[in-house]
Amino acid sequence: MGGREATLVLLDENGIRCDGRKVDEPRRIMIKAGGLKNADGSAYIEFGDNKILVGVFGPRDVHPKHMSNTDTGILRVRYHMEPFSVTERKNPAPSRREIEISKVIKEALEPAVMLEKFPRTAVDVFIEVLQADGGTRCAALSAASVALADAGIPMRDMVAACAAGKAADTIILDVNNEEDQAGQADMPIGYMPSLEKITLLQLDGVLTPEEYKKCVETGIKGCKIVYELQRKALTDKYFGNGEK
Ligand code: ADP
Repeated sequence: MGGREATLVLLDENGIRCDGRKVDEPRRIMIKAGGLKNADGSAYIEFGDNKILVGVFGPRDVHPKHMSNTDTGILRVRYHMEPFSVTERKNPAPSRREIEISKVIKEALEPAVMLEKFPRTAVDVFIEVLQADGGTRCAALSAASVALADAGIPMRDMVAACAAGKAADTIILDVNNEEDQAGQADMPIGYMPSLEKITLLQLDGVLTPEEYKKCVETGIKGCKIVYELQRKALTDKYFGNGEK
C-alpha cells in the first residue's frame, strides 16, 4: 500500500483507472466448468490477467484416518502459485501467503458445502494459479465453487468473490495488481448471492466507516456479476454445447 502514487496515475481526470476501466467496472471475466478428465470436478477462470485452474476430488476416504470426522465430511483446500505465475520466479514450496489463502478459501467455501451429507470423507480442492495479477484469492474462490458444483457436491449456494478497494481516494471495484500495490485499501469479498451471506471479508488498508460500507456494497455488486458468469459456466457445460 502507498509509495508509488507519485509515478502511477491510478485515476485520471476523467475517472478512468490505470488499466482503462471505470471505477465500478470489473476486469474481463471468463469461467469454464470442467476440463480436467481425472478430477471429479474442475473449473478454469480468467479474471483480468489472472489465470487459475481448480480440480476437485471426492468425497473420498480420508488418509490418515484420524483426520476424518464421524459426524461430517471435511473440506481441504490447497492454493498454490506456479513458479512462473509472477514476473520473478516464485519458490514452488508453500509460502506463508499460500497457507493463509488456502485457509481463507476453505473457510469461505465451508458455509456453502453440505459436508454433513458425507461423514468420514474429505473433499479436496486443488487450486493452481498459472498467472497472477492481483485478486487471485477471489478468482480462485469463484472457480473453486464452480469446480465443486461440477463435481456434484451438494451446495447451499455458490460462493462468488470479487474485491473492492480504495485508490486515489475513490472506492473502486475489482482491484488489480497496480492498484493493490499503490492504492489505499483492498477488500476481498466472498458472497453467497441467494442466501445473501458474506463468507469472506478481509481488509488490507484503512477506510472510514462510510468508505467501509461503500466498499462492501461495491464488492457485493462485483460478486453478483461473478455469480452470473458462474451460473453460465455450469449451464453451458450441462445444458449447452460446452465440453463435457
Ligand atoms: P491476491 O492475489 O488475492 O490479491 P495478495 O494481495 O497477497 O493476494 O497478492 C496480490 C498480488 O501480488 C498477487 O495476485 C500477485 O500478482 C502478486 N504476488 C503475490 N505473491 C507474489 C510473489 N511471490 N512474487 C511476485 N508477485 C506476487
